[in-house]
Amino acid sequence: MKLKIAILAGDGIGPEVTNEATGILRAVAELGGHDFTFTPALIGGIAITETGSPLPQATIDISLESDAVLLGAVGDNKFAALSPDKRPEAGLLQIRQALGGFANLRPSIAYEALSSNSPLRPEVTKDADILFVRELLGGLYFGAPRWWDRDSNEAINTMRYTKPEIVRVARVAFELAGKRRKKVTSVDKANVLEVSQLWRATVTEVAKDYPDVTLEHQLVDSMAMHLMNIPRNFDVVLTENLFGDILSDEAAVITGSLGMLPSATIGGAVNLYEPVHGSAPDIAGTGKANPLGAILTAAMVLRHSANLEVEAAAIERAVLDVLEAGHRTADLARGTDSAYTVVSTTQMGKLVHQSLTQAIDRRQSMHAV
Ligand code: NAD
Repeated sequence: MKLKIAILAGDGIGPEVTNEATGILRAVAELGGHDFTFTPALIGGIAITETGSPLPQATIDISLESDAVLLGAVGDNKFAALSPDKRPEAGLLQIRQALGGFANLRPSIAYEALSSNSPLRPEVTKDADILFVRELLGGLYFGAPRWWDRDSNEAINTMRYTKPEIVRVARVAFELAGKRRKKVTSVDKANVLEVSQLWRATVTEVAKDYPDVTLEHQLVDSMAMHLMNIPRNFDVVLTENLFGDILSDEAAVITGSLGMLPSATIGGAVNLYEPVHGSAPDIAGTGKANPLGAILTAAMVLRHSANLEVEAAAIERAVLDVLEAGHRTADLARGTDSAYTVVSTTQMGKLVHQSLTQAIDRRQSMHAV
C-alpha cells in the first residue's frame, strides 16, 4: 500500500512527538511491506522564522498533494506580541480551512493501566471508550452575522446550520458507530434552539439508513453530567461545533492526560491528524513530552486514510502493552508510586516500537505454524 504523508511537526514538543509517531509509521511500513513516504513542511513559529508566514503556500501545496497530513503542534511564546492572524496558531486555523475537513474525531478512552491518573474514580471511568464526532465547519464559530460593537457594547454571533451540513457529519457518526458498539448519542439543545430542532430532526432522518445503529438524543446540559457519571454508556457522540468543543475537553479527563489524546479531521480534500495537546513550551527540549497521543494519532492515519485497521489496532495494542508493563512518561507518573519506570519521549517511542514488532513477529510465526 502506498501512502504519502505530509509531516507538519511545528513548534515546541511538536517535532519531538511527531518524530516518534513517524518512527512507528516507518516500522509499520517496513513490517508490512508498505510504501509510506514522509514529506516535511513548515507550520507555526518555525515557519514564521524561516519564511515570515505561519503557513507558507509550499506547506499548503505539499499537504494537498498528500494522502494524509500529520501535524505536531504550533505555538511559541516569542511571537505572543503579534496580532492573532500573524501568530503561529493562525497556521493551524489556516491549514484546517485549506484542507476543509468537517468532521473532527476525538476518541476518549479510559486505559485501565492509567485509571489512577484520572480525577474520576476508577469504577466510574472503567470501560469508557467514547468517540466524539464534532462538526467543525459550521455553527457559532462561522455563522454570520458576527460582530462586537464597542460603542453600544453589544456583540453577536450566529448559530447557523443547513440540513446538508448536518446530514454529512451525521453519516460519518453512523458509519463509525456501525464498526463499533452501534450506538450514536446526538447532542443538542432542542428544547430551546431552533438550530437544534433542525439538528435533531435531520439526525433522526439519517438514522433510518442505519437500522443496526441505535440513536439516542441528549440535551447538552444533561449530557455534560451523564458523561462524568456513566461514561461507559456512550459509544459515538455526535455534536455540533461548540457543544463538541466543550464536551470533548470534558471527556478528556477520562483518559487522565492531555498527552494521550489523538484526533483526526476528516471529510475534506485531505484528512488532518494531530494530537490534541499544544506545543507545551514548559517541557519542550527536556525529553518529558509524552509521545503516545501522537503515536495514537498515527494509528488514526492508518485507520482513516489507509484502511489499515489491523495495523492501527496493533499500534493501539502496543501502546497499551507498554503502559501495562509499567512504563510512564513524566506526565503519567505524577502522583503514582515507584512501581513505574519513568521514561523519556524517545524511550517511550522505542518501547512502543519494540512491542509492535514483537506482536507482529508473534502473529507471523503463528501464521507460519
Ligand atoms: P499545551 O497543551 O501545550 O500544554 C498544557 C499542559 O499540558 C502543559 O503543562 C504541558 O506541559 C502539558 N502537556 C501538553 N502536552 C503534553 C505531552 N504530550 N506530554 C506531556 N505533557 C504535555 O497547552 P498550552 O500550554 O495552553 O499552550 C502552549 C502553546 O500551544 C500555546 O502557544 C498554544 O496556543 C498552543 N496550542 C496549540 C495547539 C495545537 O497545535 N493543536 C493546541 C493547544 C494549544
